[in-house]
Amino acid sequence: MKLLGAHVSAGNGVSQAPINAHNIGARSFALFTRNPSRWQSKPISDKEAETFKENCIKYGYSPNQILPHDSYLINLGAPDDEKLIMSREAFLDEMRRCEQLGLTLLNFHPGSHLKLISPDDCLDRIAESINITLDATKGVKAVIENTAGQGSNLGYAFAQIAHIIDKVEDKSRVGVCIDSCHAFAAGYDLSTPEGYESTWKEFDEVIGLQYLSAMHINDTKKGLASKVDRHAPLGQGMLGAEFFKLLMNDSRMDNIPLILETPDESLWAQEIQWLDSLVK
Ligand SMILES: [Zn+2]
Ligand SMILES: [Zn+2]
Repeated sequence: MKLLGAHVSAGNGVSQAPINAHNIGARSFALFTRNPSRWQSKPISDKEAETFKENCIKYGYSPNQILPHDSYLINLGAPDDEKLIMSREAFLDEMRRCEQLGLTLLNFHPGSHLKLISPDDCLDRIAESINITLDATKGVKAVIENTAGQGSNLGYAFAQIAHIIDKVEDKSRVGVCIDSCHAFAAGYDLSTPEGYESTWKEFDEVIGLQYLSAMHINDTKKGLASKVDRHAPLGQGMLGAEFFKLLMNDSRMDNIPLILETPDESLWAQEIQWLDSLVK
């Protein structure tokens, strides 16, 4: 079963996210549990958390179908110590919010070296940040998202993700989310059957398929290895229909959240239906 969904709004409170997901026919969803572009965020009230849980039960979403995304400001590999501390505090708050909501996955972008430290030092800092956060929390998996490699963002190469996982102490609480737009922009050619197979073969050899915990299903406006992160609606970008057909008929992606982050949210219900129609 493919758990297709989208990154829905929680603008009127996290409890509204499962309703928004239900309204587009989603079988999974992503959400922000705090404002993604602010350092400060008010706590989730106990009442709001209860309503969230009730709505998840009402609309049939269990924790393995829900993929919260962390704030864009957080840089777990920040070269600057003050920024690193702020990032670790905010990431811990993100993970505690997941605990409060009964969620088990937290999707995040690994971090950026800002050309101030070496990529390896940055990856080590990211792993240390994950270890500190996992030590202080329970039951939530840190899900590393691959990036397009824009600017000094790390995590675009599978070897970089493997470097981080290698240094995470509790391997049962780390996973990977592959964003199809980011992978293509980073040079993994998912658009052809050969490229698709070799990408997942490399993923298995370098990282290990057991770590695949979620995917972001996006088409891409920019070319292969462009290192530019520009999501496109499905079928309107460079990945093309072939990729989505391969994905929908690949049992390796069964029972994990497959989240649309495509730019036109009025298309999400249609995009889910279209993806379902590709199953042979
Ligand atoms: Zn992301
Ligand atoms: Zn993504």
